[in-house]
Amino acid sequence: MAEPDPSLVDPNLFDKVVNLCKRRGFVFPSAEIYGGFRSTYDYGPIGVLLLRNVKEAWWRSMVQLRHDVVGLDAAILGPPQIWEASGHLANFTDPLVDCTNCQSRWRLDKLDDPNTCPNCGAVGKFTEPRAFNLMFKTHAGPVEDSGAVAYLRPETAQGMFINFSNVLNTSRKKPPFGIAQIGKSFRNEITPGNFVFRTREFEQMEMEFFVPPEDAQHWYEYWCATRLQWYLDHGMPAEQIRLRPHDADELSHYSSGTSDVEYLYPWGWDELEGIANRGNFDLTAHSNASGEKLDYFDQATNERYIPHVIEPAAGATRTAMAFLMAAYHETEVRGEKRTVLRFHPRIAPYKAAILPLSKKAELTGPATELFRTLANHFMCDYDETQSIGKRYARQDELGTPFCITYDFDSVDDQAVTVRDRDTMEQERVPVAGLVEYLAARLV
Ligand code: ATP
Repeated sequence: MAEPDPSLVDPNLFDKVVNLCKRRGFVFPSAEIYGGFRSTYDYGPIGVLLLRNVKEAWWRSMVQLRHDVVGLDAAILGPPQIWEASGHLANFTDPLVDCTNCQSRWRLDKLDDPNTCPNCGAVGKFTEPRAFNLMFKTHAGPVEDSGAVAYLRPETAQGMFINFSNVLNTSRKKPPFGIAQIGKSFRNEITPGNFVFRTREFEQMEMEFFVPPEDAQHWYEYWCATRLQWYLDHGMPAEQIRLRPHDADELSHYSSGTSDVEYLYPWGWDELEGIANRGNFDLTAHSNASGEKLDYFDQATNERYIPHVIEPAAGATRTAMAFLMAAYHETEVRGEKRTVLRFHPRIAPYKAAILPLSKKAELTGPATELFRTLANHFMCDYDETQSIGKRYARQDELGTPFCITYDFDSVDDQAVTVRDRDTMEQERVPVAGLVEYLAARLV
């Protein structure tokens, strides 16, 4: 994969972001005290806020602000019938090759050169590709027999299809309408990597939009444009985000159109989200397998039809990582390096940090009081240790839009100094108007 222009993406960005994630409590390698566990990660005190904000921003635009989309939270464990009908048991495979020279394993479709081992450089030493199923298999209940086999979902989408009738009958929605879900998915990836970009346990944000068949193309184009705009609205730089329509040979057999939203990572353009026009494949497959009718009767036209589906499917953990990379900036202030994460306010883990200038009770008492007031409205940090310069530097690295200093004058004038993360300008703001001041700037 071609590496991006260094003027657009710092070639060392990947290492810098991974390092910052560990140092500031965004992401830790999972089971670290036992030596780590196979590309799994834990989200620390700051990372959990970032991830929640990414999911919340998605939910806000996909569910809260729309009257034609409803939410769902379906089970992670499911019986084989779901995955047989969806085609995952037969087809959810990646082509696996082994290098007979160094015994490393690769996903054939992700190799730059399908004849050369990226590990040892051996040419023509790969085994024939084998289809490797990516689903995690387990047993539900105490007996490990075939009747107890269950799978961890490899995508959240099937939950929406199998609940189509339940939602239709209870929500008073009719096509065009959508069902949205955020949750964990599991894939036994052959080559996880690039930090949290590809992991075996990850979170997805998916929406199935059910439409009359003749309107599918219109809605497909609508969702491609809408989803691309979401990334731009949340601070992704326009020159690092694009929509890439799939070539005909990349399309699944049932899809009449798929586009990926791609981000320019340090290793090149790669996927953030896929938007697919899936036809009526999924509802038809589950209807045939279950014997339940999964269709819609339109009383206005007296017609019964199986809706077509447009699916925008994004990764929450992958998107959080892309937001981190896009936000990372290094500048120089008075000869010193300054690292700052310029998150969109909706994505920023903390919205404000309350920093009493001294640890004296005279300041920490009212500063704690102020924290309590602001925390009712926004996620805030409170920090009274170290010099104010070091505390500012820490908040810059967490991407906190506003630092609020409570100083000795505050006791008398009932005002605080508010420092803007991006301009570094400071403004004196009365405590009484602080909630409104921040609310106006944190939209
Ligand atoms: P890839 O080609 O990268 O394996 P995919 O096309 O199979 O991904 P989809 O099935 O379309 O991915 O899943 C939708 C979204 O879920 C992806 O765009 C990505 O953001 C996220 N996702 C998929 N697999 C992983 C993973 N292993 N780790 C993290 N996120 C993932």
